Amino acid sequence: MVIDYDTLKRLDHAYLWHPFTQMQEWMADDPCIITRGDGHYLIDVHGRKYLDGVSSLWCNVHGHRVKELDDAIRAQLERIAHSTFLGLSHVTGIQLAQKLIEIAPHGLQRVFYSDSGATAVEIALKMAIQYWQLKGETKRTQIASLAESYHGDTVGSMSIGYSETFHRFHKGLLFPALRLTPPHVFRYYQRTGELAALNAAINEAKAKISQNKDSLAALVMEPLMQGAAGMWSQPVDYVKAMSEICRDNGILLIFDEVATGFGRTGKMFACEHAGVTPDILCLAKGITGGYLPLAATLTTEEIFSAFLGEYKEFKTFFHGHTYTGNPLGCAVALANLDLFEREDIIGRMQAKIGYLQQRLSDEFCVLPHVSDVRQWGFMVGIELVEEKNSRMNYPPEKRIGHKVNLEARKRSVMIRPLGDILILMPPLNVTDDELKLLLDVVYDGIRAVTEG
Ligand code: PLP
Repeated sequence: MVIDYDTLKRLDHAYLWHPFTQMQEWMADDPCIITRGDGHYLIDVHGRKYLDGVSSLWCNVHGHRVKELDDAIRAQLERIAHSTFLGLSHVTGIQLAQKLIEIAPHGLQRVFYSDSGATAVEIALKMAIQYWQLKGETKRTQIASLAESYHGDTVGSMSIGYSETFHRFHKGLLFPALRLTPPHVFRYYQRTGELAALNAAINEAKAKISQNKDSLAALVMEPLMQGAAGMWSQPVDYVKAMSEICRDNGILLIFDEVATGFGRTGKMFACEHAGVTPDILCLAKGITGGYLPLAATLTTEEIFSAFLGEYKEFKTFFHGHTYTGNPLGCAVALANLDLFEREDIIGRMQAKIGYLQQRLSDEFCVLPHVSDVRQWGFMVGIELVEEKNSRMNYPPEKRIGHKVNLEARKRSVMIRPLGDILILMPPLNVTDDELKLLLDVVYDGIRAVTEG
């Protein structure tokens, strides 16, 4: 049955509540309603095509309706769509775990599945806390994290990734975390250079972590790029230093690679740039090529073995979800990883990363209302301000980022800004022409809104 646009709009406005959306504004507007995808394009019910410039919220890898991925799901459907992982196993879940351990940084050995980035992080937190309890270090109940990090919207992940704007109403539910200032020059160290910012951030982390080392269970961080904070990049040396500080103080290191994992930064995992293996690694988004909700928390044999014992000891990790390790998700994840290898996705990204870098620095950085541009691989944040010299922000009511988004949409490109920070996150096998289109359109959109 084909439903016309006006009916869909009425039903959307009558029944839906969209995530991270001011519904009053949404309901006063004409929604863009997607009906299908084709390669790197989204197609709305009017038949208009849009380049998927943020990879459907940072998860799409090879595009939409990719034959190999579609076929993997169909083949799995012929076998079984879902069966539980609690007390049972299944073929694709086993195969995917083996594959993940093969490609993960050396030292990670066990895979615990769930279904979203937030749950992958919750699991990491619970694993870390229980690990220390089981080891008899019962005072280690605190978590350290980076200021303005984002780890998802469940209570544990909100606690460690606290953002005043997003989470102030839920403060009462959240547990305190030890906050460390990341080496983000533009936000925290404007009057210093990159090296001074790096040293200051490392010194602060050293001091705070060593002061609290007896009560800390773990440090959680997004390595190289704090995504939802607005693409706050870190130098590789920061990741190395944080790993050393954790080792020196005997606390666990958890990397949240929900956004940076699966090629986004130009290597399979961001931590590879620094040659660091965390104790726990959180993965989601790109794990299924952006097809189905699946996540994984990987850890070491050392952590895993602390949970072993007789049932009556109740050392078990009592955590699980109905759809933990869903077979359809595992099947498409396997096909996704197969495509990564067969199509040399990461190798073929490198020239495009260089092209992005070049155009961002030659054309975007010099625009009068672009105050800062940050990039790691195919993760880009372009920060817009009203006054470049004083770095004065636009007042929120001007909704500058949103306006650039609408301009881009008029020009057939879909992006989604974070406030006045424009995000570019193309699918990893985006073509040269599509990447050029994305940059041309965003450039024109910025000029139309900020100079028009
Ligand atoms: N961690 C990071 C670094 C993220 O960027 C996100 C989502 O953007 C999450 C966790 C939460 O993932 P999900 O939306 O799948 O719960």
